[in-house]
Amino acid sequence: MIEIRNVIKEFDGFRALDGLNMTVPDGAVYGLVGPNGAGKSTIIRHLTGIYRQDSGDVLVDGEQVFENPAVKNRIAYIPDDIFYFSNARIGEMASFYRSIYPQFDSGRFKKLGEVFDLDPKRQMRKLSKGMQKQSAFWLALCCCPQVLVLDEPVDGLDPVMRRQVWSLVLGDVAQRGTTVLVSSHNLRELEDVCDHVGIMDHGKVLLERSLAQLQDNMVKMQVVFRDPDAQVPPGLPVLHASRLGRIYTLIMRMNAQEAQRCLAPYDPLLADAVPLTLEEIFIYELGGVDYAVKDIVL
Ligand code: ADP
Ligand code: MG
Repeated sequence: MIEIRNVIKEFDGFRALDGLNMTVPDGAVYGLVGPNGAGKSTIIRHLTGIYRQDSGDVLVDGEQVFENPAVKNRIAYIPDDIFYFSNARIGEMASFYRSIYPQFDSGRFKKLGEVFDLDPKRQMRKLSKGMQKQSAFWLALCCCPQVLVLDEPVDGLDPVMRRQVWSLVLGDVAQRGTTVLVSSHNLRELEDVCDHVGIMDHGKVLLERSLAQLQDNMVKMQVVFRDPDAQVPPGLPVLHASRLGRIYTLIMRMNAQEAQRCLAPYDPLLADAVPLTLEEIFIYELGGVDYAVKDIVL
C-alpha cells in the first residue's frame, strides 16, 4: 500500500506540495489527475525516492521510500521524460536494469520484444518520442515491480500502442497484483483503466475515491413524466437537471435503486439509469464545493 501523509515540499520558498495526502491500496490502478503545475510529477518524484520531502511521510508498505533501496527495488518508474544513458542501446539499458532489479525477468524481455517490435541494438536517443516511451514500458515491465509509477505515460504513443501497453499493464495487475499509480492532466484518458482516482491541484489531493464509491454515490437518470408539461418535482433531491424535448436528465446523489424509489411516486413513463463518465461525476461532485475543480476536469 502507498500512503502519503501531509507531505510538504518547497522549492526556493515556492510550495509545490502543500500537505498532500493520498492512499493507494494494493492492486489498485490509481489515476492522479490535475492541471499542469498541480504537483503530480513532484509527488511522483517523492514516491520514487528522487526528492526528499520537507515534512510528512512517503510510505510503501509502511516504510519510508527515500534512500531505502529495499523499497525502491520493488518500484518501477516511467518518468514524463524518459531517462537513458547517452548513447545507450535498449539492450544496454536492459542490462543496467537487470543489475539493479533482482527480479528482472530476461525471458520476459525476449517475449515482449515481439510486442514492441523495437531492435534492442538501437540507441535510445535515436528513437522517436513514442518509441522511447515504448522501450520504457518494455524495460519497466521486465522489472516485475510491485509498484509501477507512470507519469503521463501515454503522451506520444499512438492509439494502438496505448491499448497495447494498457493491456500489458492491466494483465500484470490481474496476475501479479501490481499496484499502479498513473498521472495525467486528462481525466478522460484514465476513465477506462483506473479503479481509483485522486484529483489534485495546488499541491494537494482535493478528493480521492474508488470507482465503487463513485458509482454508488451518484446516478444519471433519464426520465419522461406523464404530463408533457411536467417540471422536475421540487421534492426530488436533484443536483442538476437538463431537458431535451420531453426527456429530463437528472443527476442525483444516490445509487440507481434509490433513484428509482424516489421517482416511483411520480409514476414516470420512463426512468432509466445511464452511466456517468468520471468527468461528469467529478464536476457534479465538486461543483458546489469548489468551482476551481470544474476547470481542472473540463
Ligand atoms: P505537474 O506534474 O502536476 O504538471 P509539477 O509537479 O511538475 O506539476 O510542478 C509543480 C510545481 O512545482 C510547478 O509550479 C513547478 O514549477 C514547481 N517545481 C517542480 N519541480 C521544481 C524544481 N525542481 N524546482 C523548482 N520548482 C519546481
Ligand atoms: Mg508533470
